[in-house]
Amino acid sequence: MAVRTSVAVPPKVPEIRKGDTVVVLSGKDAGKRGVVERVIRRQPAPRGGRSMFRRGSSAGGVSVVVEGVNIAKRHTKPRQTSSTTDRMPKIQQGGILDIAQPMPIGKVMVVCSHCGKPTRIGHQTLDNGKRVRVCRHCGEQLEVKS
Ligand SMILES: [Zn+2]
Repeated sequence: MAVRTSVAVPPKVPEIRKGDTVVVLSGKDAGKRGVVERVIRRQPAPRGGRSMFRRGSSAGGVSVVVEGVNIAKRHTKPRQTSSTTDRMPKIQQGGILDIAQPMPIGKVMVVCSHCGKPTRIGHQTLDNGKRVRVCRHCGEQLEVKS
């Protein structure tokens, strides 16, 4: 359809950015909303376990860490970590840590901050050439204010 120009952004630009509010579409946390803490471009190597990511997903290996979503409880023991950079040895407290695990970006959808609906992302190029993401529902920009 549209002619691709050579200045086009790479095809795998994550539509979701840090600071976005997203809603989870599937899994045990389906329906939950949270703020994106981190966007990970390449799926991290699974640490001695099975990957939770399916191969060949259309998301292109991008995953997101969403605050309060996809929590894994991690039990830790108290231990002293000797750090070479700090003078003070750190005492790491034992206990149960709630750690948000990355999840494939295809499992979440951005929630528009204007109309409050989960939405697909559209793109718009402003007069100054800046590309912005827009809500497909209300047409408002979805840029994260920092
Ligand atoms: Zn909207």
